[in-house]
This record gives sequence, structure tokens and C-alpha cells, in this order.
Amino acid sequence: MISDEDIKYFASVHAGGAIGEMATELLQLREDKTDIEYIRADIHDAEIDVLKADLAASIAVREEMQLGGNRMAESLRFARAETDALKAENANLEFLLQHVIGDHCAPNDCYATGPLTGNPIADLVSCPSCAALDYLASKEGHR
Ligand SMILES: [Zn+2]
Repeated sequence: MISDEDIKYFASVHAGGAIGEMATELLQLREDKTDIEYIRADIHDAEIDVLKADLAASIAVREEMQLGGNRMAESLRFARAETDALKAENANLEFLLQHVIGDHCAPNDCYATGPLTGNPIADLVSCPSCAALDYLASKEGHR
């Protein structure tokens, strides 16, 4: 770092010129160290303000996310309750469907199409009870 003596020398040699002016200003700044301390403190305060604003924004985002999470959890609880109710209703309907079909042995019990013939054209229309049994069997496979 350049010494105060050297700065004083430049100030006297270049008095009235740009370098002399800069040297004089630099000497003044060195004398007024308190000014520099104030500037540093201001910068420090400004940085702290920026950090505080950043922290406040982060907290706001976190609270927003927490709110969103709570809403999602509530929706999930509602959806689960609804799903449980639908499963119970579905089981009840399957039981009733099985009850309506009763004992059904193809092809002798098939009434809508008559006995299955093995002829693809004649057997195009499916028996409602067989269709229902196929449906129940397919659901059984998916559990
Ligand atoms: Zn049938």
C-alpha cells in the first residue's frame, strides 16, 4: 500500500492537476476513516436487509407449500373415504348380481340364446347370465 508520505509528495508535485486532486482526495479519505467505516456499515446493513427480504420470501414460499400440502392431504383423505365407500358398494352389487344369476351352467341354463351351438353366427348374441359371470370372473382376476 502506498504510504501517506508518497501521497503527500504526489499531491504537492501535481498540485492543480488531476493526479494532485486524486492524491488529496485519497489523503482526505485516509484521514476520515470514520467515513469509510460508515460506508461499510451502510453496505453491511443493506446486505442484511437483502438477506432479511430473501428469508421472508423463503418463509412465505414454505408456508404456501405447507398450505398446498395440507390441502392435498385433505383431498387424499376425502378420496380414500370415497374409494372405500365405492368398494363397499361394489362388493354389495357383485353379491346381488351373483344372487340374481343363481346357479347357471352353460349351455343348459342359458335362456336368452338357447343352448350354445358352437356355431359362431348362432351364438353371436351372448347370454346375459354368462356375460355377468364372465364379468365377475374378470374382476376376480384383477383383485
Ligand atoms: Zn348362460
